[in-house]
Order: sequence, then C-alpha cells, then structure tokens
Amino acid sequence: MDPKIIKQLEDIAGKTQVLTVKEDLATYAYDGTTTWSHAPDVVVLPTGVDQISAILKLANENRIPVTPRGSGTNISGGSIPVRGGIVLCTTKMNRVLDINKANLTATVEPGVVLQDFNMLLAKENLFYPPDPQSFLTCTIGGTVAENSGGPLCIKYGVTKQYVLGLEVVLPDGYVMKIGGSTVKNRTGYDLVSLFTGSEGTLGIITKITLRLIPKPAAKRTMMAIFDDMTLAGSVVSRILAAGIVPAKIEFVDNFVIRRIEEKMHVGLPVDANTMLLIDADGSLAAVESEAAHILDILKDGGAQIARLAKDDDEANMYWKARSAGFAAIYSAARTVIAEDVTVPRDRLSDFIKKLDEISKKSGFPVVLIGHAGDGNIHPSVFTNSREKEDLDRLQDTLTAIFEAALELGGTLSGEHGIGLEKKRLLAKALDPRAIEIMKQFKNVLDPNNIMNPEKIWELS
Ligand SMILES: Cc1cc2nc3c(=O)[nH]c(=O)nc-3n(C[C@H](O)[C@H](O)[C@H](O)COP(=O)(O)OP(=O)(O)OC[C@H]3O[C@@H](n4cnc5c(N)ncnc54)[C@H](O)[C@@H]3O)c2cc1C
Repeated sequence: MDPKIIKQLEDIAGKTQVLTVKEDLATYAYDGTTTWSHAPDVVVLPTGVDQISAILKLANENRIPVTPRGSGTNISGGSIPVRGGIVLCTTKMNRVLDINKANLTATVEPGVVLQDFNMLLAKENLFYPPDPQSFLTCTIGGTVAENSGGPLCIKYGVTKQYVLGLEVVLPDGYVMKIGGSTVKNRTGYDLVSLFTGSEGTLGIITKITLRLIPKPAAKRTMMAIFDDMTLAGSVVSRILAAGIVPAKIEFVDNFVIRRIEEKMHVGLPVDANTMLLIDADGSLAAVESEAAHILDILKDGGAQIARLAKDDDEANMYWKARSAGFAAIYSAARTVIAEDVTVPRDRLSDFIKKLDEISKKSGFPVVLIGHAGDGNIHPSVFTNSREKEDLDRLQDTLTAIFEAALELGGTLSGEHGIGLEKKRLLAKALDPRAIEIMKQFKNVLDPNNIMNPEKIWELS
C-alpha cells in the first residue's frame, strides 16, 4: 500500500493503532472458517467514531477496500480481506456507554465482548438473550453485523429483535444515526434492520442501543438420550405442537458427544446416539410445570433416558460442554465445514434422514450439532483441504445439503451469514428480483464498493 496512505492512517488513528508488519497482518488473515485466508495491507484499530469517519473518507476517495472486523469468529469468511486493503478492527472501542434499568436498554460500542456485557447485566438482574456460542470472544458489533442467534433464540429471538438504534459510519465518512431507544418505532423504512445482518457490506456500526429484559426468575435443565437421531428430531416437533416453547432445545450427535468428552472429561453419556439438552425458564411455578410436561413428552417420544439436571452444577456442565461443541468438531479433521442450514421445525427429522443419505453417498463423515428448537442444524463435514479431489467432491456434497434444506422449505443460513462461503448458492435461495434490489441498496450506500467487497454477492 502507498506509504502516504499509511502515514495518513497513522495521523488519523495514532501510530500504535496501525499495523503493517507481516506477522501482525497474518493474524488478521483468518476468521472462524478453515478454508479462507488472505492478509490485509494494513490493520487499523480506531478508538473513536471520528477516526472511523476519517478512515472511511480516505479509503473511499482512494478506492481502498475496507473489511470491518470484531473478534474474527464468524464462520462464513465474512472478515477475510479478500482484496487486501484495510482491516478496520473495532476491538479497542469496547465501552458499555449506558445501562438504563428504567427503560430496559443499554448502549454499547461495537467492540464490547458479549460475555463481558452479559456479566455486567447479570449484576443488575438484566438479561440480553442472543447467545452465539462464541460469546466468550465475539463482539456485539460482530453479532449485529451477522444478526447472530444461539440456543435461546427459539424462545427469545435473534439479535435483530433486540437492536433498537444504531450509529453507523457510511463509506463516504458520514455518521448516521438510525432508530433510537424506544421499543416501538415506525418512522419510515426500517434501516436498523437493513444494517443488522448486513455483514459489514454497508458501513461500520459504531454504536448500538439494545433492548434488554429482566432476568427470568427460575430455570430448569433437562437432558434426554435417544438411540435414534430422527426420533430425537420428531420429539422436538411434539414439544412445540404441545404449545410449549422452551428457552433452549439443543441437539448433539454421538460423534460430537464423544469428542467433547475426550476434550473436557465432564461426564457426558458417551454411548448415547443423540442427546437433547433443554432449558425451561420463567417464574418458578411455570418452570416446574413446563419441565414436567416436557419430560412426559420426551419419555412418550421414545427417549431412553429423560431427566432433570439435579442441580446448577450438572446443568452448567451440560451447557459448558455444548458451547465447546464447535471447538471439539473443528479440531477433529484437517478441514471442517460447519454448515448452518435451517429447516422448518416440523421437517427436522426428514432433514436428518436426508443428511445421513448424503453422508453415505459422498463418503464424507457428516456430524450434527445444532439448535434443534429452531430447526437450525450445523451439519459439519470433515475433509482435507490439501486433497484436491476431496475439495471438488466437497462442493457437490455441500450443494446437496443446501438443496435438501431448500426442498424442505428451509434456508441457506440460519445465523452464520453468506460471506464468502455461500455466495455461490445465493441464487438458489432468493428470488432474482430480490437479489437485484439488495444489490441496488448496496450500490446506493456504497457506490465505490469499498465496504467488505466480494461478500454475499457472486462477482458479475
Ligand atoms: C465456536 C464458535 C461458535 C459459534 N456459535 C455461533 C452461534 O451459536 N450462533 C451464531 O449466530 N454464530 C455463531 N458463531 C459465529 C460467530 O461467532 C458470530 O457470527 C459472531 O457474531 C461474530 O462476531 P465477531 O466479533 O467475531 O465478528 P467478526 O467475525 O469479526 O465479523 C463478523 C462480520 O461482521 C462484520 N463486522 C464486524 N464488526 C462490524 C462492525 N462494527 N460494523 C460493521 N460490520 C462489522 C465483519 O466484516 C464480518 O462480515 C460461532 C463461531 C464460533 C467460532
């Protein structure tokens, strides 16, 4: 990159906040995927919105690509700077600016780590439900840009249900405020929703006002074991059909159970074909009756074992193990593609059957972990990126997985986004006119295509 640009970036953000050494740049070449990497020319770690505005203005005038980045945990290639240029990393903007108990809102900078935020809220008896299982490291800015979800979204919804207001810096440097701090807001088109889930392609999110809720008074955790995965899938639909919406219903297959146990030694049932973990929360009386009802349905639905965790320690052990699921999977093969398809909840067991057929036909192991309660399964395909033949076959296998989900009325991505990983499949999932309209939005906001180029769209 032109040394004059580097000097201007240093003048804007300070010399120590601009990284150009090869070894530093290499650490920003990756994200949570195992197949993508590309180093940027420079990394900037701004500490304020004025700096971000000046950086984007400079980049826009010089047509330099800008890739926004939080903690780089996304699993869609979203923060890979495929065209080099600037990585704009928000981790130094990590202040919680306000927690308003009377209005049940909080305003934060984008680099606040989700777990730090949750811990602050817990002290106030408040609750922010969206819970991607990368919560120990992911930033709130990253979760808004990906519209992340997690186990709790079956009952509480995903990130977009909690974003009330945003401050965003547009590619020309303009600082725009949208939405506000009211729960209701029907003023013009909903630009807050447009930016939520925009994967860093429209601007940089610099301030976020979030809706909070009071922490539920009580919670019970249940564990159930099945000797047949499709049975576990159909029990999920039976729970929902009975009019019960638990706080979480998570699903783990035998491979993942054994792998987590190998890594963590927490006492999981390693012989179980499939394990469901379920939380009920709310008032004490409601939770007790809901849990009893769920246990009955689990037993009637064919669970070999269905029981309540005896105490908080046992419940925490299950959820700690569940959140280690991805790490356990990712270390199981040289290349792991953890997919993110979602099907209507009443088609879950059909989808599980289909995945088994696809795995057998392709010869690739496909292991399953996911948010069964909302139909969002992560079929994880094991392969080896060093074997060209494997990689070619892999694309066909992934396409078969997506097509199976779409045929069942599902979608390409429940929560990980499109990024680089799924853009080749976008046309299969969306109306061509809808894609055209989305591209026009992008063009209005970012006519020089500097913001996270090559993400979401196939190059035309
Ligand atoms: C072990 C593991 C478990 C996971 N579990 C889940 C899960 O349960 N649910 C789920 O939804 N996801 C999950 N993820 C994916 C990922 O953690 C989430 O997408 C998370 O929200 C990304 O946050 P981040 O700070 O790491 O963002 P990054 O990965 O740095 O960025 C994500 C995207 O947002 C853009 N971006 C980042 N910050 C900004 C900003 N301030 N303004 C504009 N654009 C920005 C980036 O350009 C990129 O496109 C998991 C990942 C891992 C590794």
